[in-house]
Amino acid sequence: MDIINILPDSVANQIAAGEVVDRPASAVKELLENAMDAGATALQLIVKDAGRTLIQVVDNGSGMSDIDARLCFERHATSKIRRADDLFAIRTMGFRGEALASIAAVAQVELKTRQHDNELGTQVVIEGSDVKSQTPCTCPCGTSIAVKNLFYNIPARRNFLKKDSIEFSHIEEIFRRVALANYKTAFSFHHNGKLLYDLRPGNFAQRIAAIFGTGFNQRLYQIEEQTEPVKIFGYVGKAEFVKRSRGEQYLFVNGRFIKHPGLSAAIERAYNELIPERTYPAYFVLLDVDPQRLDVNIHPTKTEVRFIDEQTIFAILRAATKKALGQYSLASEIEFDTPAELDLSPAPKDFIPSQPTVPFNPFYNPFGNSAPQSRKQTSSLKDELGHFFDSAPTDSDYANKASGMTENVQPRPQADIVASRSSTTVPISYQGRYIITTMKSGIVIIDQQRAHERILYERLLAQRARGGVAQQLLFPVNCRFNAADSEMLGELLPDLKLLGFVVEPLSQNTFVVTATPSGVSADELQMLLEQTISEYKNNMMQRFSERDKSICASLARQMSVRQGTTLKAEEMQQLIADLFSCQAPNISPSGRRTMFIVSDNDIADGLKG
Ligand code: ADP
Ligand code: MG
Repeated sequence: MDIINILPDSVANQIAAGEVVDRPASAVKELLENAMDAGATALQLIVKDAGRTLIQVVDNGSGMSDIDARLCFERHATSKIRRADDLFAIRTMGFRGEALASIAAVAQVELKTRQHDNELGTQVVIEGSDVKSQTPCTCPCGTSIAVKNLFYNIPARRNFLKKDSIEFSHIEEIFRRVALANYKTAFSFHHNGKLLYDLRPGNFAQRIAAIFGTGFNQRLYQIEEQTEPVKIFGYVGKAEFVKRSRGEQYLFVNGRFIKHPGLSAAIERAYNELIPERTYPAYFVLLDVDPQRLDVNIHPTKTEVRFIDEQTIFAILRAATKKALGQYSLASEIEFDTPAELDLSPAPKDFIPSQPTVPFNPFYNPFGNSAPQSRKQTSSLKDELGHFFDSAPTDSDYANKASGMTENVQPRPQADIVASRSSTTVPISYQGRYIITTMKSGIVIIDQQRAHERILYERLLAQRARGGVAQQLLFPVNCRFNAADSEMLGELLPDLKLLGFVVEPLSQNTFVVTATPSGVSADELQMLLEQTISEYKNNMMQRFSERDKSICASLARQMSVRQGTTLKAEEMQQLIADLFSCQAPNISPSGRRTMFIVSDNDIADGLKG
């Protein structure tokens, strides 16, 4: 007995539809992308009841001929590819020719479309894959597709829809992605008769501001890099504005929103030591790569892609983000009014990707002499604490006392770039652990050890770059380690040498230390090295990807002032001044907060009533 049946088209379509259209938001995505592909410069999204009742997209794009208007609902009907080869050169959003067929299988669809050189348009009504009518109609140039009562013929699926608020937030997110990627296109979005977004064409920054609020520009730095394998343009969030959850993170490739954990990690890694653990920066990044070196076809809804030059792109993206974070930490705010164009010309087909060198100075000191004096300081904190830069003593006693690493390398804060303030506040030491002081508009409580760690860390890194100052020990010290640690130490010797530790292997598991940075006591050496080795092992597995940073963080921690050390007033003032001269004063090298600010408003709030 034969048991195989061929499924009727309508059933096959319904089954296939589930892959493309699983909720109202996915229908919205397909319709918006089709409109963009049709070259629309303005489009409207109209939604009722979170997409349950109506999803309509009206565009001013190319429109369709009478025949295409009928054909577009057929499965595998697409104007975007003709041969399998085309798949690899695709720049448009859709190309599987499945979206409209799928939507028409599970909804009541009304299409009106007119091409620019036609007087009349055409209207197609289709329900559950059944064409009900096709008639000539008068309508504006372009296309309007209304999707009514989604899943009307699949009650199980309709019942599966979440609360309106949830379905709506998915739709809104899709809208934001498409609107961000296509910032030169005008968009409007109505929900239940209310106009929610009315976006004018503009540049990328203006589009971000129009969607997320004009205040958002204060929170971003521009990122830009033009290389062969990838062109990068966009904005990354300042470290101060990280969030506890992954919120505004947008990555686009060739105008399409993508999810790519690898590339997201590239951006987040650039923040490694600037932000606390488990916090996430915002970013809006447009990538442009040769479509031939991109595989977008690995996921039916096409938010996942693969890059041929993934590792190179990873490295460039990370370096570009770092550059943005370093270079712009002082520089002016983003100019949201100057148009910033992205060069969309494809890379030559036969180029060989090479790792580009991105000029980036990790020791960039935003408060160095070269800082333009008239520039507005982005570091409002430093500004707030300006009086410390005027009154800080010239000798950094506390640092010498605590570490001995600081002679001759003390970067003096540039008092001249900070507005002079008459009042000088004497900081208070609390519990031998915190420093409390005032600033222009509140009180700041500083964790002295974490703050000192940050200062030493940046100083060590700078020292390492220059080659550390070593002091010959009067009596060389022998240190013994277990086999594993000895091997690890062997690897670290060149790094230690740069920091001013001259350590040489003596015999199997014994090393001799002949010089250290000034102030490291001989008694502590064994402990210091052991600790450095063990932290290095941990660090490399977790937080730090670069060994020099790991080693400096570990040394900084060991050399920092301990809790319970009560600092003198001048020492505290110096520590505060040094802290705010750091690149990342808010956070310790191990990612913990160095300070806590109680603003005047907080105080007033607390004392209300
Ligand atoms: P795909 O986008 O993958 O080609 P779709 O099912 O989304 O498949 O669309 C099928 C075809 O219908 C498209 O290739 C295009 O030719 C046409 N089409 C769809 N939407 C529009 C529109 N808004 N304007 C003009 N043509 C459209
Ligand atoms: Mg499509």
